[in-house]
Amino acid sequence: MNCPRCGAEARATGKEWKFGLFDAKQYSCDKCKKPFSAFYREGKLSHTVPKAK
Ligand SMILES: [Zn+2]
Repeated sequence: MNCPRCGAEARATGKEWKFGLFDAKQYSCDKCKKPFSAFYREGKLSHTVPKAK
């Protein structure tokens, strides 16, 4: 999963939760030192928060 802020490879933090119809996963970018969330629906990536540029 690439960071939506800088595009660097980010790693999963292991935090996962349900968000309505979505399965959410938290990732952490070592370059930005900031986490972001990815939302999956039916196993496919829907969007990230913040959104990719
Ligand atoms: Zn980043």
